[in-house]
Amino acid sequence: MPILHPVYAAMGTTVFEEMSGLARQLGAINLGQGFPDDPRAPELIEAAARALAERSNQYPPAAGLPELRDAICAFYARRQGLDLSREQVVVTSGATEAIAACVLGLVQPGDEVILFQPAYDAYAPLVRRAGGVPVSLSLLPPLWRYPCDGLRAAITPRTRVLMLNDPLNPAGSVASEAELAEIAAVCIEHDITAICDEVWEEVRFDGVAHRSLMTFPGMAGRAVKIGSAGKVFGLTGWKVGWLAASAALAGGLARVHQFLTFTTPPPLQWAVAEGLALPDGWFAARNAGWAASRQRLRVGLEAAGYAVLDNAATWFVCIDLAASGLDMDDRSFSEAAIRKAGVATIPVSALWEGAGAPRQIVRLCFTKSDVVLDEAIARLTAFRTDRAA
Ligand code: GLN
Repeated sequence: MPILHPVYAAMGTTVFEEMSGLARQLGAINLGQGFPDDPRAPELIEAAARALAERSNQYPPAAGLPELRDAICAFYARRQGLDLSREQVVVTSGATEAIAACVLGLVQPGDEVILFQPAYDAYAPLVRRAGGVPVSLSLLPPLWRYPCDGLRAAITPRTRVLMLNDPLNPAGSVASEAELAEIAAVCIEHDITAICDEVWEEVRFDGVAHRSLMTFPGMAGRAVKIGSAGKVFGLTGWKVGWLAASAALAGGLARVHQFLTFTTPPPLQWAVAEGLALPDGWFAARNAGWAASRQRLRVGLEAAGYAVLDNAATWFVCIDLAASGLDMDDRSFSEAAIRKAGVATIPVSALWEGAGAPRQIVRLCFTKSDVVLDEAIARLTAFRTDRAA
């Protein structure tokens, strides 16, 4: 009898796949899994088609096309003032692969790994599969601040790695400079390596440039920065991501990557390299489009009586059910909303492990056309009117 590893035997399908599967089956509007329904990146589609026809479709170098690695360095130099070189970058098949490479490469049996939750649901299972022990600290709504005292208290001699998702999905919150400085100080004091999932770095609505934990003094050699073309360009199905670290660390992680996916489709790599060279105005226009959709969903939900939490980043807004006058938990809401109102959402407690998860927060993705958002708002308005206390 084949025996599945207990980590996988004990788990179900991710909440994102579950909700998208239900949405497909029921014909519901999908505000669950995060993806734009109209990618505002025709330049990249055209570039990929051109590369598919005109360039090599054979294995590219395992660490990625040199042209893309250079484009990633140039992009980060321009947008975030980073000074990276090609040897510090490895192209991966999506950020999730980069995260897996980091966990498999850095976590050894018995190591404790600090996670902040809500957390992308891949983190803890990957840590466990590597033999590590997730130590989860909670960020709580409505402000989702980092528990800096709790962080210090959670460190033990076995703590080796910390995973940080900033900006934070699903909250859409951003770590303050003070919080990042404190996290960096803890990493340095306790010789901890930071896996920094920064896939939302470009999707910000507060006008502030992203700052990586990697830029804090003493962190350059102990942080891995992970990015995603899926998020930067709204092309989630392409699964083009990357990691950046010191040359030594990136070289080590490249050896993990070579036995995960080895490479990523080269036409997509060419297209992303071209895309990263688009002018700043292109990125500003793309964000203005997403900002307008964000505002449309927020205003529509508020007019219907939903309490929408403030946030600064990502493709998501969160609603607080209790503050919206709804006496139901997030899971019940999401199940009823998809089955009765035809709108898929994500119950945020699905991104939590252990006790203490808030049960009143639901995430909705706003990167949809106006027509789709208006229909979703109309459906959710009727849904709340039927149920509000
Ligand atoms: N990051 C995506 C989201 O938050 C999910 C990714 C996935 O479904 N694997 O919606």
